[in-house]
Amino acid sequence: MTATPAWPPESTPRLFVDRALAAGEDVRIDGPQAHYLLAVMRTRPGDPVTLFDDRTGEWLAEAQAAGKRDLILHVTRQLRPREAVPDLWLCAAPIKRGRIDWIAEKACELGVARMIPVLTRRTVVDRLNMDRLRAHMVEAAEQCERTALPLLDPMVKLPALLRDWPEGRHLFFADENGGAALAGAIAAHRGPAALLIGPEGGFTPEEREAIRAVPQAVPVSLGPRILRADTAAVAAIAAWMTVTGDW
Ligand code: SAH
Repeated sequence: MTATPAWPPESTPRLFVDRALAAGEDVRIDGPQAHYLLAVMRTRPGDPVTLFDDRTGEWLAEAQAAGKRDLILHVTRQLRPREAVPDLWLCAAPIKRGRIDWIAEKACELGVARMIPVLTRRTVVDRLNMDRLRAHMVEAAEQCERTALPLLDPMVKLPALLRDWPEGRHLFFADENGGAALAGAIAAHRGPAALLIGPEGGFTPEEREAIRAVPQAVPVSLGPRILRADTAAVAAIAAWMTVTGDW
């Protein structure tokens, strides 16, 4: 499918709703989404709104009764089914606020199927605001015409992630101390995959050993320059999408 530019925005507002949509249903919108429709987009009864639910796809709806703080949308017809998403997970150590949000946003735009925040020894962030991370993904999907969102897992400790690693999934481990060149490694290991990116301080030697001991692990290098964790995550996703994803 040819990508359609997401900017400048069409005049029809586009929103994610966390429930399965079907023709003929009425959907009540409140909170920040209602504010966006009523105050920012000036949606009035009769105006079209596009909705997607990350389950069935994208739907056309029509604004009905509008209150001060909420409005009802009547779902009229399906525009698109939910898109296919390449089978790539991103396992990334949380980094400073702002940068981890940026990773979540970009992972969504680039087409990652699942994001798993991973707690490592040198992770300096101890609490993650999952609602905020999720909101960044939703906003990116709304703006970029997506009909699917990445799954967002609760934070998991690195040893638990490695212990339960699924048999049929390659684990590309971005190791700044050296590994196979990324593109070649991806081409040689096609199929379900995940990228593992460390925190600002990198992985400890013990962690690197533990990761390398996982049979599905493929240590990879992202080139001769050390990248910040957020850059490493986005660059590695782009490389995977190019070599074996759907770019
Ligand atoms: N080791 C440095 C920087 C860590 S960079 C330090 O201790 O401060 C953060 C993460 O990005 C790394 O753990 C690694 O997963 C990834 N990364 C950055 N540059 C990389 C490169 N050139 N090759 C492979 N991985 C890289």
